[in-house]
Amino acid sequence: MKKLGFGCMRLPLLNGDDPTSVDLDQFCRMVDLFLERGFTYFDTAYMYHQNTSEVFVRKALTERHPRESYALASKLPTMSLKEPEDQPRIFEEQLEKCGVDYFDYYLLHNLNSVNYPIAEKLGSFSFIQEKQKEGKIRHIGFSFHDSAKLLDEILTAHPEVEFVQLQINYLDWEDEGIQSRKCYETAVKHGKKVIVMEPVKGGALARIPKEGEDLLRACHPQWSPASWAVRFAAGLDQVMMVLSGMSSLEQLEDNTSYMQESVSLNPEELTLLDQVTAIIHGAIAVPCTACGYCVEGCPKSIPIPNYFALYNAECQELTKGVNTHRFYYNNYAKSGGRASDCIGCRACERACPQHLEISRLLKDVAAAFED
Ligand code: SF4
Ligand code: SF4
Repeated sequence: MKKLGFGCMRLPLLNGDDPTSVDLDQFCRMVDLFLERGFTYFDTAYMYHQNTSEVFVRKALTERHPRESYALASKLPTMSLKEPEDQPRIFEEQLEKCGVDYFDYYLLHNLNSVNYPIAEKLGSFSFIQEKQKEGKIRHIGFSFHDSAKLLDEILTAHPEVEFVQLQINYLDWEDEGIQSRKCYETAVKHGKKVIVMEPVKGGALARIPKEGEDLLRACHPQWSPASWAVRFAAGLDQVMMVLSGMSSLEQLEDNTSYMQESVSLNPEELTLLDQVTAIIHGAIAVPCTACGYCVEGCPKSIPIPNYFALYNAECQELTKGVNTHRFYYNNYAKSGGRASDCIGCRACERACPQHLEISRLLKDVAAAFED
C-alpha cells in the first residue's frame, strides 16, 4: 500500500461555516483521482463533519468503487460511550452509514487519560476483538493523544492491538507537550505499526516563516513546505500510513504527485528541518528546556514543562489557535494540577536551572488555556 492516506475530516465544503455542507462533486473527483493514482487508504470517523463524514464516504467512495479497490478505516467514539450496549449499536450504524460489510481498519478513537478508563470499563478492546473474529474488522488499533507513558501502559495491557495512530510532525517531534518522538519510539518498542495524523500540524507547516521556506526552496525548489512535512513523517521506518486531511483537488494533486514513490529524507534534509524548527521556535515565549527538575517538588502536581511547551506553541503566530493545544492542556489537567492551581510557593523556581519565574509564567498559561 502506498503510504499516503486520505483523511476525511477536512473535506471540501460548499459553505465554510457549515461542516456538514460537504461539496460532494468535488469530493467524488478527489476520490477518483486518488484511486486512479494508485492510493487506496481512506480514514473517517463517527464524529467527523458533525457525524456526516461516513455518509459522504459512502456516496463518494463505497457506492461508486469496488470494495476490493480501497481500504477503509473508521473509529469508535470512546468519548461518547455511556454503556457497553452503545458499542454494537454505533458499530452497526457505522457499517450502514459507510455502506460496507466490514472495516479494513477500526480504531478506538482518541484514547487519553480520560477515554482510556472508559474504554476499559466498557470492554471496548474485547468488543473490537470480537468484531475482528466475526470478520467485520480486519485490523484493530486506536488513535492516541497523550503522554508516551500512558501509551506504554495501554500497549502493555493490550498486546492484541495491531497498530496505533499518533500525532507526528517535525515541529512536535521533540515537543514535551505532544511528545511525538517519545510516542513513536514507544510504539516501535512494542512492535506496532504507526499511522500518522497531523503531519502538517493542522496546516501550520504549509505556511512556515519566509526565512524557513527560503532555506527549503534553496534545497528543492519544487517541494512545497507541506510536502517536506509529509516526507518527514513518511520516512519513519515503522510508519505504514501518513494521513492528510485534504480539502481541495489542488491539495490532493500536490500530495499524490510526490507520494507516488516511497519517500524519506536524507541526513542533510533532516538537518534543514532542524534549522526550520529553530526558526519557528525563534521567538519562543518561555525558554524552558523541559529538564523536569521543577516537577517533583510541586505540591499541586502541575506538569510545568508540558504546559510551557503547549504555551510556546500557542504563542507563535504560525501555530496560534491550533486547537490541539487546548485539547492537550485539558488532557494534562485531568491527571495533574491546572496552571491556575499554582499557590506561588516557588519551590519549582528554586529548582529551575533556567531561573524562570515559573509562578508568574503559569498565570500566562492559565490565561491562554483556561476559561
Ligand atoms: S510555585 Fe506553583 S508551580 Fe511552583 S511548586 Fe509552587 S505550586 Fe507548584
Ligand atoms: S526546571 Fe525550568 S527549565 Fe526545567 S522543566 Fe522546569 S521550568 Fe523548564
